[in-house]
Amino acid sequence: MTVQPLTSPPSVSNSKIITPSSDVKPWPGLIENYRPYLPVTENTPVVTLLEGNTPLIPVPYISQQVGKGVKVFVKYDGLNPTGSFKDRGMTMAISKAKEDGAKAVICASTGNTSAAAAAYATRAGMRPFVIIPDGYVALGKLAQALLYGAEVIAIEGNFDDALTVVKNMAKDYPVTLVNSLNPYRLEGQKTAAFEVVDVLGDAPDWLCIPVGNAGNISAYWMGFCQYHSFGKTNKLPKMMGFQAAGAAPFMAGEPVTNPETLATAIRIGNPANWEKAWGAKDASQGEFNAVTDEEILEAYRILAAQEGIFCEPASAASVAGLLKVKEQVPPESTVVCVLTGNGLKDPDSAIKHSKNQVKSGVKPELSEIAEVMGF
Ligand SMILES: *Cc1c(COP(=O)(O)O)cnc(C)c1O
Repeated sequence: MTVQPLTSPPSVSNSKIITPSSDVKPWPGLIENYRPYLPVTENTPVVTLLEGNTPLIPVPYISQQVGKGVKVFVKYDGLNPTGSFKDRGMTMAISKAKEDGAKAVICASTGNTSAAAAAYATRAGMRPFVIIPDGYVALGKLAQALLYGAEVIAIEGNFDDALTVVKNMAKDYPVTLVNSLNPYRLEGQKTAAFEVVDVLGDAPDWLCIPVGNAGNISAYWMGFCQYHSFGKTNKLPKMMGFQAAGAAPFMAGEPVTNPETLATAIRIGNPANWEKAWGAKDASQGEFNAVTDEEILEAYRILAAQEGIFCEPASAASVAGLLKVKEQVPPESTVVCVLTGNGLKDPDSAIKHSKNQVKSGVKPELSEIAEVMGF
């Protein structure tokens, strides 16, 4: 091997210099990329922040925990522009609202919907109104909604109360509802299933996903079924939905009046997409299960400390669920766990539940720092 002297530029032939080649196109956002599968026309003004195209990351430690030659991947949707999968639905919902001439949009939110609605509505020149349960929205999400320019109204009630309010507001006032009751939300969100198949070359055997209002599980199932009908996959996954034990209406078989969990994004007692989600579970021979806050936190720490992936607590419910029912996973199968939101959304939970804490009060002296480091 010859070593180049540092003073001269490396001799690389022109053909080896990496320039964008004509066949590598920049990602155009999910509406442009999946246009034939979406209810848009050339008249739809596409409002995009180039969301989608998030990585499907192998997680070797978690695969090993499941064993049996099972391959586990996480769909890290926390890397969307506002840090959650909600951007997928919002690019569609806001584009269609703009097409219809809407001037204002409204949503009830546990946090991420409000951040996404605020960003996309602002971009489209509309007023975003957000109704949140007072005291139960993670700090990062609230910060985003405010800075993006949302008009945030905190009610003395939970998410389910907020959803009831916004449904009635949208009936009586000139504001468009952009919760997942808006059918365009699910249309946008289904593209995550397309991306999974585009990477794996087929559908996974299992899809593990946190369930709150149950829009995302319904959207993934729509996406897999649609790709299947176009011959893009040979199989369909088992849909495995996980709720937090304190907010698990699907396990109770009826709405839960006072949902409680530290996973605030899924702190929902009366899911709006109840029927659709049960349809997906039944048709896919999947299952719903509940995971405790302790199990959620354990998965949250494993993802960060073993895999280097920082998600928010609600997202970790998918991995907590997989680990809980790992005995049921068929050998040699492929499993995708959806990580719905970015860990930076909820810095309070991260600091509170980390095994590591800051070692403070240390003098800036080598010997003292070395001692703290254990050398
Ligand atoms: C919205 C959200 C969920 C729940 O998704 P649903 O479609 O309401 O079931 C889960 N995790 C995060 C981070 C979310 O923002």
